[in-house]
Amino acid sequence: MADKFAAIADLLSCPDDGASLRHMSGAFRCTHCERRFPIHEENLAEILPSRPLEFPASVNSGYREAYRQAFGQPYSFSETSSAWGAEETIAKSWARKRRRQVAFVQPLIAEGTTAKGGVLCDIAAGAGYYTLAYAHLFRLVLHCDLSVDNLNYVWRKARSLGLQNVFFLRIDYFAPPFQQSLDRIICLDTLIRGEAHDSALLAAISRSLKPAGCAVVDFHNWWHNPLRRLGFLPENFHNNRSYRRTEAEKLLRNAGIESFAFHPFVQEFSVNRAAGRWLSGAFPPTRLIYRIAALRQGAPLYAAIVKKCRGPQLRSNESHHGQQSDARPS
Ligand SMILES: [Zn+2]
Repeated sequence: MADKFAAIADLLSCPDDGASLRHMSGAFRCTHCERRFPIHEENLAEILPSRPLEFPASVNSGYREAYRQAFGQPYSFSETSSAWGAEETIAKSWARKRRRQVAFVQPLIAEGTTAKGGVLCDIAAGAGYYTLAYAHLFRLVLHCDLSVDNLNYVWRKARSLGLQNVFFLRIDYFAPPFQQSLDRIICLDTLIRGEAHDSALLAAISRSLKPAGCAVVDFHNWWHNPLRRLGFLPENFHNNRSYRRTEAEKLLRNAGIESFAFHPFVQEFSVNRAAGRWLSGAFPPTRLIYRIAALRQGAPLYAAIVKKCRGPQLRSNESHHGQQSDARPS
């Protein structure tokens, strides 16, 4: 067990100062500021920054409030909590779309890794669709979320499935506890809050990747459907951000990510059927999926973006704890 924690500590860094972490006495501890990050249930650790990100006013106020609440929520174990998007709580058609995207992304994220050799991190892991489906492909899966309910839900599911190689991290994805330490990252169904949120998150993802690592991210292209634009389909995207391809790629470049590959995806149709394959080709993509490389040398790093949004650093003895919720689109 000590070896397992030591190996995980090698992947982690302090979300406040970027220093390395060490495992000791049931926790991870920063080698610089000596903050202690608790480990619960033997495979779940909380590695939050001292304070939440302060968003500019351009970020939706509902999201900002949900984030602040989630950040401040104390962690507690629950045998009953559910997750946003949990399969048991959603329509079958919605779950089918999710599973199609899980299947579509799998070869993109597994490419270049040896069987059960790499480390995968789902940085906004939600109800665990990707964690649970990909765990057998990797040596270790880091399942990350801020929401206590989401983490509890997937923790219980992983336990019921007997998965031994999933480690749960409660993190703030604007200050993830990684410094160029990860082989593979996925961040899906999350870049939907607008440029300020989405560019900060992209920079954080890129900063977390090893120089030879890669990530798979997606953007919603909600306006793809002419019927929706004409008002014949309901407006169910609320205040979330839909991107055209040119806008998404501008955002990637502005976050310092210049190496990426585009993979259009239509989650509404099954490619296992001829009609679905034809329709997928005939419709504009509903999801703009990108496989992105690590941040280029000298790019404006995450720290520069966060510096703009965060206030002055806390004193080293100031306690943290907020929490956040991973508010998602409805
Ligand atoms: Zn520290």
